[in-house]
Amino acid sequence: MSIDTLDRESLGSLLSTQRAAYEDLRSRGLALDITRGKPSPAQLDLSHELLSLPGDGDYRSADGTDTRNYGGLEGLVELREIFSELLGVPVAQLLAQGNSSLTLMHDTLVWALLHGFPESSRPWAAEETVRFLCPVPGYDRHFTLLESFGIEMIPVDMREDGPDLDQVAGLVATDPTIKGMWLVPTYANPTGGVTSPEVAARLMAMPAAAPDFRLFWDNAYAVHHLSDEESAASDVLSVAAAGGHPDRVLIFASTSKITYAGAGVAFFGSSPANVAWFKSHLKFASIGPDKVNQLRHVRLFRDADGVRALMRRHRDLLAPKFDVVDEVLRDRLGPHDVATWTRPTGGYFVSLDVVDGTAARVVELAKGVGVALTPAGASFPYGKDPRDRNIRIAPSFPSVDDVRAAMEVLATCVLLAAAEKALA
Ligand code: PLP
Repeated sequence: MSIDTLDRESLGSLLSTQRAAYEDLRSRGLALDITRGKPSPAQLDLSHELLSLPGDGDYRSADGTDTRNYGGLEGLVELREIFSELLGVPVAQLLAQGNSSLTLMHDTLVWALLHGFPESSRPWAAEETVRFLCPVPGYDRHFTLLESFGIEMIPVDMREDGPDLDQVAGLVATDPTIKGMWLVPTYANPTGGVTSPEVAARLMAMPAAAPDFRLFWDNAYAVHHLSDEESAASDVLSVAAAGGHPDRVLIFASTSKITYAGAGVAFFGSSPANVAWFKSHLKFASIGPDKVNQLRHVRLFRDADGVRALMRRHRDLLAPKFDVVDEVLRDRLGPHDVATWTRPTGGYFVSLDVVDGTAARVVELAKGVGVALTPAGASFPYGKDPRDRNIRIAPSFPSVDDVRAAMEVLATCVLLAAAEKALA
């Protein structure tokens, strides 16, 4: 029965049942962690061949380049061809770089701050104020990165089909200090939302008060499907050109959750003008990326279908964990109407909204019985969830049994905190 309809006596009884369950959990001495979206060891093992690739004597790329040497700032063309197909970016406009797309986002921001984009009247750092729109809940590292540079963050709501366009379009059209916006278009972190083609088209066509406004299109989960409903990456560069803003979008992606999170390959894609701008700064930082790593990825994947096949094997390992999250939340919380949560068809996270004002308490309670959850508020700029209700669940790393045990604890803590609040 919904917690809202319970009288004080029934609430008291719910509270004592959950307290007893909580004490029982404490006695079990659990040590579980569902904080970070890391691939599990079994997922890393799917790419075990990488450890012996490209193999003895195999170091030449398709055009005969010795990958062991300096050079080739753009990255190996055969790897860019594979990801051109998967990310919907022309090969000539796609760069393959080091292991982290977050580093590419960081460097892009640094260059924007120090030099500005081609159409900027001055470097962003010379502006009195620089602001970014941040769809929430969102990826915590996007927010901490901006915070580290003193860029102000304005939250906008993230919906199932992308960011709230009325909020976004209104702000971007009128405030010239808004220079950028984050977006995880496919299976967003943490909601799993997928930006629809209609929303993408409007984002690319909307007027912007800042002539150098940029959309940071972080397609980290472009091929990370959890169901047969496989959302394809949209040809966002053509959509941007059709919307009259060919230079608006900067695309980032990586193989961190395809092969090795610590030793993959990251990609940057954009318009010819933005790619030239990117390379004009990159050339001072590097004489070329790790092409041996790129070559071993080419040997592992062979082609875009090789990536798709590997991602299906990831799905086989991940989908049961997401099923368990939904099953436990549905069984334990459904009857009490104390929470809503997402059922993503891809990506790495589930976003859980508990009773307003109780998320921090839930995380504290879970910690008390040995379950580490992402800090409440982490998915919001400055770590502040104004309603203190959102919790990000990352089920990829622990085993299915551990995910189940952690979710049982989480459900007990959500109910306990909800009953405490209702009786307070
Ligand atoms: N972007 C998003 C949305 C993520 O969730 C993550 C990792 O969790 C990253 C980027 C990190 O990417 P990389 O490993 O390529 O730096």
